[in-house]
Formats: sequence, structure tokens, C-alpha cells
Amino acid sequence: MNFYDSDRMTDLLKPHGYQLDDNEDDADLIVLNTCHIREKAVEKTYSELGRIRDKINARKEKNGKRSIVAVAGCVAQAQGKEIIKRSPWVDIVVGPQSYQNLPELIAKVDPVNKNKNINIDFPTIPKFDQLNAKIEERGPSAFLTIQEGCDKFCTFCVVPYTRGAEYSRPLKSIIDEAHKLIDVGVKEITLLGQNVNAWSSKGLDNQNWGLGKLIDELAKINELKFIRYTTSHPLDMDIELIKCHKDNKKLMPYLHLPVQSGSDKVLKMMNRKHTSKEYLKIIEKVRHYNPEIAISGDFIIGFPGETDKDHISTLSLIKQVNYAQAYSFKYSKRPGTPGSVFLNQVDEDIKNSRLYEVQELLRSQQLSFNKQTINSSIKVLVLKKGKKKHQYIGRSPFNQSVYFSSKNEDLIGSFIDLNITEAFQNSLTGNILSDL
Ligand code: SAH
Ligand code: SF4
Repeated sequence: MNFYDSDRMTDLLKPHGYQLDDNEDDADLIVLNTCHIREKAVEKTYSELGRIRDKINARKEKNGKRSIVAVAGCVAQAQGKEIIKRSPWVDIVVGPQSYQNLPELIAKVDPVNKNKNINIDFPTIPKFDQLNAKIEERGPSAFLTIQEGCDKFCTFCVVPYTRGAEYSRPLKSIIDEAHKLIDVGVKEITLLGQNVNAWSSKGLDNQNWGLGKLIDELAKINELKFIRYTTSHPLDMDIELIKCHKDNKKLMPYLHLPVQSGSDKVLKMMNRKHTSKEYLKIIEKVRHYNPEIAISGDFIIGFPGETDKDHISTLSLIKQVNYAQAYSFKYSKRPGTPGSVFLNQVDEDIKNSRLYEVQELLRSQQLSFNKQTINSSIKVLVLKKGKKKHQYIGRSPFNQSVYFSSKNEDLIGSFIDLNITEAFQNSLTGNILSDL
């Protein structure tokens, strides 16, 4: 979602004379878009801010020019003034629901005295209604936020506090943005939300629509070829959406459905509101409608109170699901969440060894999934050039990176049928089937 927000900030600032630059050395404005989901991401914010301070000081010394520094995203939301206290060279702090105000906040910065501007409000008019900036460039694949925030309050998670209450963007606003993306050459859209499958809004027939219906509506856009969505919560996985994985050929055979733990005791402590059995039932149903689908997930290792027995239940669930891909993280205490004050925190050493076991198992499942594709034909969307001569990188329907080569200089944004020749942990290689 931060990628999406960063793109929107770029669109927003363009009419004000700003354009993206790879190099911060001579930038008039540096926006650091931050993540607060785990402690590591927060530490990174402060180390990045130290690096940025050195850059802006060097620029000032070189040519007397002052750069404006803005911190956006969830660390900005959670820490507000604290950021300016710890990093006084920051001029602007702006939260994820108020970055539409960035141009005004920049205009208010006095270049000589450098006053501080903070806006971490949750506005009454949702930001999307105010984000009318033109979209000029995205590449072949783009994100589109359709849902934000969360009301589920899992005991480990900061999202409800930083992104705010659950909000679904209205249908029209989503369809309009999808058209804008198509107009700049986008072929694949990934619908985004902290709980994307909780999306619900009034449909064209005035009835309440869920994500499945939205996907069907978007699929009517001719030039849009691949549709994805992330991240889903098991409780919001309704039958309409599950069936969409069978009936809608533009919806990719990939489902990211985090479970966090395989132990019912831990799931309860996490306030996930479902059991491991119920999760497995959903996976079974999804596979019933689409046997090929790649299943992905998230795991939190070492949540307070997790015992060896709970850990074994997680390993057992992973074995039952057989993931195509997954993310796993050590539990990280987040200030203000109930989990952070639970008494039975797990030792760091134990977390490390359990994480290792979980990741080894997930890695082997991912490699087997990738290997199954050898000798099959896969249609990929070509995303960019690789590092080697004539090399391209595309994405498969199952969300795998696929490397191939072609002397054709103009393949980005096309769909190419490849015969998969090799499979690795995180990628595939293939040869072009049709001569281009
Ligand atoms: N809404 C999604 C997840 C959004 S947060 C869901 O309910 O599943 C993205 C991922 O970050 C989570 O799935 C979780 O695995 C991880 N995460 C969130 N808080 C965390 C914490 N305190 N420690 C470690 N990982 C965390
Ligand atoms: Fe966080 Fe997801 Fe739980 Fe919401 S449902 S609190 S976003 S983990």
C-alpha cells in the first residue's frame, strides 16, 4: 500500500513542479514514506532520516540550497511530533490519511526559518475524494487501493491505530481510477486493502456488492487483462469471491490468505476470530473451485504464550496447506497494542529457531511449487528488462518472477507464452514459445 501511496504523492506533486529523481543529492524535496508494522521498519525510518540529514547538509554546504524533508506513512501517524523532536531537520510530518494535503504543507514551509508542519488527522472527507491528480505513468502493472483501515483489532497489530477505521472506497471512484490506469497502458491491476476482501459498497444495481462482484465489473474493461487482490482476511472470504476464482478468467490463480498461526490457542490470543480448522476449510473450498490456485500466507512466530506444542501446530498447518509462497515474521511488540503488554513474551532465541524451522518448510514448499511448472507453458506479463543483455522479467499468473530473453527491444507490457525450463526458490526461467 505504501507503493500505491508513494505513486499518488508523486502524481499529486507533479502539477506543483516536482518530478521524481533517483538521486536525493540535489532534491528540493525528500519524502520518506514509512511503515510501522514491525519494530524493524520503525528503526529503519530513523536510520534513513540520519542518512537524509547528511545529504541535505552536504547540499547546503555545496550550493547553499535547502531541501524540504517530509515524513509520510504510518510511522508519521504513530509518532507525530516525536519525529521532529528526534530529527529536527524534518519539516513536514503527514499521515497516511492526510497526504492529499502535501502540496499545501510544502507551500507553508518557510524556506528561511523552516517552520514545522504536522498533519496526522483522520479527515472526515476521505482522501480519495480529494485525490484527483492526473495519473501519467505506471508501467504495465499497477496497484489500486480499494479499501483501507481495519476494525478487527488483532492483538499484535497496529493497523487499526495507524490506518484508522475500515473504509471501502465507492465503486465509481474505483472504476474511474481503473480507467485512468488503463489509459496510461496498465494491463494488470492489483486491488489493495489491509482487508481487501472486506470491501463492500453499493453496486450498479443499488445492491450491496462485495469484492467478487467488483472484480467481475472491473473484468469488463477490455484492456485490463490480469486482476489480483491483496491482503485478505479468512473471515471475509465469501463464496462469491471464492467462485470468482473459477469463473472469472481475468482473476489470477493466486490467493494471499494469512493465518498467522496453526494453534487455536494462539489464534484466540491474537483475536483472529477463527480456528485453524475453519481456515483449512476455506482453503479446501477455494481449491475445490480452482484446484490450480497458488496459496500464500503470513505467519507470526513467537507470539506471547506460544509453546513448542503451538509451534508444532503451525508446522502441521503449513504441511496441510502446502503453500506456494508465504511470508513469516518474528512477533514484534507494537506500542499500544494489547499483545505488547502480554506477560508471557517468548525468548528471542526461541523465536529465532522456530522462525528458521517455519521458513525452511515454507522454502521447500515454494521450491516444489515452482518446480511443478517446469515444461509447462505459462503466459507472463512482461514487466521490465533484466540486468543481462536481452533479458526480460515477467510475472506469471501464480505471481512468480519469470526470466527469459529476447532480442525484441519492445516487449514491456506484452503478454508472452513461455515454456518453463528451470525453477528456483524465487523465480523461473523460460523460453519464448511463439516467435516474436
Ligand atoms: N489484514 C491482514 C494482514 C495485514 S498486516 C490479515 O489480517 O491477515 C500484514 C502482516 O504483517 C500480517 O499478516 C502479519 O503477519 C504481519 N504483522 C503484523 N503485525 C505484526 C507484528 N506485531 N509482529 C510481526 N508481524 C506482524
Ligand atoms: Fe491487522 Fe489484519 Fe488484524 Fe486488521 S485483520 S488488525 S490489519 S492483522
